[in-house]
Amino acid sequence: MPHPLRASLLLTLGLLAGTAHAGTIDLQLSGVDTEVPSTMKFEVRSAITRMHAWYGDQLGLTFPPRVVVQVRLIANRATYDALARNYVHETSVGFFAPEAGGVMWAQPTQAATEGTLVHETSHYLLDEAGVRPPKWVNEGLAEVFERFRVAGNAVYVDPDPRVLAWLRGGGGMSVERLLRMGDGDWGGLADGPLGRAPHSNGYALVAFLVTSPAGKRTLAEIIRRYDGSRSTAEVVAAVEDTWRGGVRQLELDWRAWWSGRPAPVQLPVATGAERVVEASADAADPCPGGIMIRRGSETVCSN
Ligand SMILES: [Zn+2]
Repeated sequence: MPHPLRASLLLTLGLLAGTAHAGTIDLQLSGVDTEVPSTMKFEVRSAITRMHAWYGDQLGLTFPPRVVVQVRLIANRATYDALARNYVHETSVGFFAPEAGGVMWAQPTQAATEGTLVHETSHYLLDEAGVRPPKWVNEGLAEVFERFRVAGNAVYVDPDPRVLAWLRGGGGMSVERLLRMGDGDWGGLADGPLGRAPHSNGYALVAFLVTSPAGKRTLAEIIRRYDGSRSTAEVVAAVEDTWRGGVRQLELDWRAWWSGRPAPVQLPVATGAERVVEASADAADPCPGGIMIRRGSETVCSN
């Protein structure tokens, strides 16, 4: 087991050197009771390819050589709910489950569906990388990528004006308090502009951290230390050790960011020259009009 400090230095050096991150990601998106627009396939593929590369190159996460993101879209809300009940306990618009893959409700607007797809794929990718960040980081990252925008060959993530207005109006929790929020501490807290409290508060800080190399180093260190310890004291220590001036200065820098005019962030393309983006032909649907579910070695089709 490497000494934690040495591991941290190696991680930092790796990030500075722009470690090449190899590996492919393959999106297989099909519709159960609806057509998937080709613009949706293109835009979601652009976003999750960048997101996968970002997690590898910018946060130093390691993925299996080939990540398959298999998602089925269901337009009929009742059909979706009937299936989702088996996997998620709360009302949802999309989820990933080991036996069912990704299942998303095709929402009234294509933009909302694409956002959900990218949000849920963010959670799926962190699972694939084998890391469990604090809940607010996990939801914050998903919310950041959900706000993607494709412009030609470029992909941007835009700051959310509702969250900025909320923060400027005195909403949200302090950085100090957020860093100390354990995964079980969120019950009973008021919702924010993005819905549940961990989503809104997590987004508010993560959207700032992704704008700079220093912020990405801090995020990577928070994830690494919390993953090993499940301790919020380690989250605070990660900030004290990586952010110049520690938690107190991060609070001031974060406030200056949302008080000013936050700019969109462009997601870089992968630095790994060997990365191949597979323009995968979506596999033939094995369950036309239904959902394929794997149970052990068996494959069954459900409604
Ligand atoms: Zn989420």
